Amino acid sequence: MYRGRFAPSPTGWLHLGNARTALTSWWRARTNSGKFVLRIDDLDDSRTVPETILGNLDELRWLGIDWDEGPDIGGPNAPYRQSQRNDRYEAALQLLKSNGLTFPCFLSRKDLRALSSAPHGQPILYGATERQANSLISPQKILSGKLPNTRLRISDSIVSFMDVIAGKQSVSAMERVGDILIRRADGAWAYHFATVLDDTAMGITEVVRGDDLFSSTPTQIILYKELGGMPPLFAHVPLVRTAEGKRMSKRTGSLTLRSLRQAGVPANRIVGLLSFSLGLIEKPKPVSAIDLLPYFDINRIKPQPFSLSDAHLTWLTTF
Ligand code: GLU
Repeated sequence: MYRGRFAPSPTGWLHLGNARTALTSWWRARTNSGKFVLRIDDLDDSRTVPETILGNLDELRWLGIDWDEGPDIGGPNAPYRQSQRNDRYEAALQLLKSNGLTFPCFLSRKDLRALSSAPHGQPILYGATERQANSLISPQKILSGKLPNTRLRISDSIVSFMDVIAGKQSVSAMERVGDILIRRADGAWAYHFATVLDDTAMGITEVVRGDDLFSSTPTQIILYKELGGMPPLFAHVPLVRTAEGKRMSKRTGSLTLRSLRQAGVPANRIVGLLSFSLGLIEKPKPVSAIDLLPYFDINRIKPQPFSLSDAHLTWLTTF
């Protein structure tokens, strides 16, 4: 049985790129006669914008998306909010710990940045140099009572997966993943860990998400294996760029479903433009999410970002 999901973080209102991913995920589940799960990824309290927790669900429904399990309707895998699933994360961490797979890491983000040779803005890898530096400072930090981060020690391997949109991928775990952060010293759970545990617990068979998370997938595949689960299939939907060529972001006020809806733009126009952007129809035309179902084919989605032009925006807002 196919089981898909959409898992927005309530850090802001959903934008057109999020809507494109949500629709793709929903179409994929519905064309496979599968179940669709809605989960709220609200791990990071400091970034949560409270009104978007339920507000974004309302925008998705308006767009024509429905779900079989979710925070507002419940289901067999409740709770559907990560902030309420602490006990599950705790139990899994204890299991990893008792198998000797984790270690305390006293290096701060600043220490890691100083050790890293990666250019600024690039992800920092926790490899041999970091392991060595950590073992040097650990005795003293333990004596001083400092709380550590918890990391999973990885082994040297090649991680491979088949992305339904981007094709076959292979990366070296030591060169591209490094030892994986599980829990921060302040108690916060790492996104990868919570996501893998929840997708496993919720029986997700295919993860459709934005390709900003593409580089997270090898990390998550390693976690699936260490936690004894089977990785799902992955399909990373290319991002939507603004007319200025910028990446859309929930936090910088990109075109949101909410603002378009408030301006009176019909949901059918948004679905029509996004269907066109995915290569499902020849040119933008108003269409509902359900009416597009027979035309959905994931193989038509190109692995390149879609650039929203001024002409697209004019079409969207001229009704
Ligand atoms: N919560 C993440 C986001 O809103 C998505 C996580 C995922 O799909 O794995 O960007």
